[in-house]
Amino acid sequence: MRAGDVEIVVARYAGYCYGVERALRITEEALEAAEGPVASLGPIIHNPSVVGRLEERGVKVVASAGEAATGTLIVRTHGVPPEVVEGARTTDLTLVDATCPFVAVAQRKAASLREAGYAVVILGERDHPEVAGLEGFAGEGAVVVEDAAGLPLAQLRGKRVGVVVQTTQTRANLASVAAALVPVARELLVFNTICDATEKRQSAACELAAEVDVVVVVGGRNSANTARLAQLCRAIESRTHHIESAAELAAAWFAGVRRIGVTAGASTPDEEIEATVAALQALCGG
Ligand code: SF4
Repeated sequence: MRAGDVEIVVARYAGYCYGVERALRITEEALEAAEGPVASLGPIIHNPSVVGRLEERGVKVVASAGEAATGTLIVRTHGVPPEVVEGARTTDLTLVDATCPFVAVAQRKAASLREAGYAVVILGERDHPEVAGLEGFAGEGAVVVEDAAGLPLAQLRGKRVGVVVQTTQTRANLASVAAALVPVARELLVFNTICDATEKRQSAACELAAEVDVVVVVGGRNSANTARLAQLCRAIESRTHHIESAAELAAAWFAGVRRIGVTAGASTPDEEIEATVAALQALCGG
């Protein structure tokens, strides 16, 4: 696409992934089938405008099953700890599970490591809901680290160590954690639970960042995979801007540029990507 002398290039893989599309479809079906109130345990996906539109249609975001009390309760894409699901099953709530199947794989791997007696290391963001869910499956004693520097090596020395990864991490981060554990662990079992959609979006974003003068990353600021795209792009092209909506674009970011790259997180709808491209065309072509 062109806007005057400026070319606008959208990444090969950008926007909604399989897990997000599936969760939104499940939510639509739950809304149609529900006879009482509908709530989600935390936001269904990490995109404030999509979640806001669902709220307008009656999907209330709650922090616990107790807050929902009656009706239908949807488990978010990022999953929840098993005890939360077990607790909800003892109520009158109708439980609908929208956990992404890739997240569910990571949860099962975490549980299998615990059952097999491994010291479990979870590579991910400490405060992210997906990681909180993984911790629940990995059980007490699991260690959450954000990178190799955070590994408690003395505590893990001589042990059988098992690793699972938040689905939106980078391969490079996983590789450095595995490399740091090799000289320490008696036995090391690493499950690469990074999802396919994440890997495709990350490599497409890196290719794009290498070819343009400025990168715009569209998506929720609370979206881990969007933030990671911005981080990866910024390492290649320092003129990288993470926005939630086209209204945030500033003309000054594009002074003197010839090529603008646009990418978007896995929870960003197509219309937000299209609105960003349209706004860029207006800024640069007008
Ligand atoms: S980014 Fe991957 S793990 Fe997350 S919802 Fe999408 S497909 Fe599932």
